[in-house]
Amino acid sequence: MRRTLASKVNAILLGAPGGGKGTISKYLQRDYAFTHLSTGDMLRAHIRDETSIGKEVKGIMASGGLVSDALVLDMIAEEVKGKKNILFDGFPRTLEQAKALKDIVDIDMVVELKVPHQTIADRISNRWVHAPSGRVYSYDFNPPKVEGFDDETSEPLSQREDDKPEVVLNRLGKYEETTSALTEFYGSLGVLRSFAGTESKVIYADIIEQLDEELKKR
Ligand code: ADP
Repeated sequence: MRRTLASKVNAILLGAPGGGKGTISKYLQRDYAFTHLSTGDMLRAHIRDETSIGKEVKGIMASGGLVSDALVLDMIAEEVKGKKNILFDGFPRTLEQAKALKDIVDIDMVVELKVPHQTIADRISNRWVHAPSGRVYSYDFNPPKVEGFDDETSEPLSQREDDKPEVVLNRLGKYEETTSALTEFYGSLGVLRSFAGTESKVIYADIIEQLDEELKKR
């Protein structure tokens, strides 16, 4: 069933990489009339269209660094004009962005996904690939017929550097460091809602309940 927002609600989705943020974001867009704004998608579109912004950010994004607050904020200020019921994804990333956003639009709810880091690391490190074809296996959901080997070619599978548990845990630690400033900020504003769990479907049921509660107040 598609729900519609009774009145204007702007929300932010916060969640660690690999923790199901993409899935929850899809559910929210499916069930509520959110306009999804992902700064990552917007920046990638600039790179694809070879705009001046695209040229400026290409190298930074490739190296995994953060694009400047000023650039991201200009882009967001332009993008939110005339829009309501926005779901921000991948933004804000820094306290400066969060503070500046406050002067651009009202934020009614910040949805923080709290999936244990070990769960994320275990899941990601269960992912093995057949590099030549790009076929991906997961030892949880779609294991290869023979452990360690591709179903079609019988060639050995490998693990991406990024998917190794120690690399994943390191990335999650960094995410936590930058995000804690945001959760503190939104906590002090009284709009932070945290959802703990390991399964997106279960977490989403809790989110719906809170969001509907929030909507009833309007
Ligand atoms: P992911 O980290 O999941 O790959 P995104 O698609 O959100 O994510 O972002 C990709 C890249 O775009 C980031 O690594 C960063 O370089 C840039 N970026 C996206 N959003 C922001 C932001 N709010 N502030 C600064 N840089 C950003």
